[in-house]
Amino acid sequence: MSIKVEDYYPRETFNKMKAFADQHETPFVVIDTAIISQAYDDLRAGFDFAKVYYAVKANPAVEIIELLKDKGSSFDIASIYELDKVMSCGVGPERISYGNTIKKARDVRYFYEKGVRLFATDSEADLRNIAKAAPGSKIYVRILTEGSTSADWPLSRKFGCQTDMAMDLLILAKQLGLVPYGISFHVGSQQRDIDVWDAAIAKVKVIFERLKEEDGIVLQMINMGGGFPANYITRTNSLETYAEEIIRFLKDDFGDELPEIILEPGRSLIANAGILVSEVVLVARKSRTAVERWVYTDVGKFSGLIETMDEAIKFPIWTEKKGEMEEVVIAGPTCDSADIMYEHYKYGLPLNLASGDRLYWLSTGAYTTSYSAVEFNGFPPLKSFYL
Ligand SMILES: *Cc1c(COP(=O)(O)O)cnc(C)c1O
Repeated sequence: MSIKVEDYYPRETFNKMKAFADQHETPFVVIDTAIISQAYDDLRAGFDFAKVYYAVKANPAVEIIELLKDKGSSFDIASIYELDKVMSCGVGPERISYGNTIKKARDVRYFYEKGVRLFATDSEADLRNIAKAAPGSKIYVRILTEGSTSADWPLSRKFGCQTDMAMDLLILAKQLGLVPYGISFHVGSQQRDIDVWDAAIAKVKVIFERLKEEDGIVLQMINMGGGFPANYITRTNSLETYAEEIIRFLKDDFGDELPEIILEPGRSLIANAGILVSEVVLVARKSRTAVERWVYTDVGKFSGLIETMDEAIKFPIWTEKKGEMEEVVIAGPTCDSADIMYEHYKYGLPLNLASGDRLYWLSTGAYTTSYSAVEFNGFPPLKSFYL
């Protein structure tokens, strides 16, 4: 398998990023913020009626927060630390949602004191905390969705509750003096099966109708989470196709009078904007006759590539070396045998690849810097540069 850069970046953009990369020691991620800007515009064009809450965990760089703030984005925040960071960039609390369903009561209070009034929940204990610490706030309940097998990075099992419990929670929210505001779901990150949104939206519709008919509660918002695709080796439909299909599902269920729609993209906005540049430390074989080579690089699972866990995300890897390709195992530089990125999925790299050659991991703008360990084996966190 050989990777064509043009499948992932306009040639000019890639050349610009590579020229920058050539002047720096590996490993690092270089991010072209113009790509993020374009991805944001494309998402807005696809879903012109929706509000975008950027999921900050994908990449919390100040450069990205400020870019998206200036473009009018809101922010999906998961901790008091992300909150402080985003607010210190000048984002007001009316553009923030506390989207983590797992939170301490005192952290809810902290958000409330900073002015945040929109909270996700999926359990009674959390809801009661919110009622006390953030009285009168708007509540949306996250429901469980299917789709964990077609998402490359599932997010569903840990979060969300069943439909009946979601209704119970929204009724309780009202009794506790909160505003039962809407429903959220996340179909799983890098979700390749668009039909999963159909099933999720249908579930939401049932909740909207039953709460209205049985309890007189009129919900106003659907938060459709993230899950939109980035470009990795396993190809997906285009974002336009996602938008067309998902809008059709929404209209099938809700007609032309859509409730407020929120999207929380992370990966799809950022991943394609980044290239992780690494260097080959060693190329080795495990026996005199072994066909398979091991390629050890100066970046690994603990320095930004944790999404290679179970080889879930298959990043395209490009190298300048040309020539005959053969299968390799690709592993990181640390003293941990979990630090193997690809062993079962067969990457091919040129036979003449040697120590000191560079590997370019494409589409690595999201979920790399934010996942990097701080000092494992003494290696520093993954550096990043923003063009
Ligand atoms: C991580 C996360 C997102 C972003 O998901 P992507 O698949 O990266 O777009 C959105 N919403 C919530 C609640 C999340 O936890």
